[in-house]
Amino acid sequence: MKKESCQHLPTGAAAPRASKCEECGSSSSVRVCLSCGHVGCCDSTRGHATAHYRDSGHPIIRELPISPGSFTWCYECGAYVR
Ligand SMILES: [Zn+2]
Ligand SMILES: [Zn+2]
Ligand SMILES: [Zn+2]
Repeated sequence: MKKESCQHLPTGAAAPRASKCEECGSSSSVRVCLSCGHVGCCDSTRGHATAHYRDSGHPIIRELPISPGSFTWCYECGAYVR
């Protein structure tokens, strides 16, 4: 499921604060929180990006490294957004 837009997208995307997961140091499949720049690993690693959403309520992550092809995911919508 892909949405054209979602109301949870922050107006300005925060820059990543790190290049690895801040919790476990994993550098594979990491995601940045667009609300605060937190970097966490995906659910197939240890799930720290999802843990950050649960702790903070920040709904939007983007795949790192950021490129035109990297995806954006909204936890609130449960969908990829653009
Ligand atoms: Zn992690
Ligand atoms: Zn955040
Ligand atoms: Zn959303």
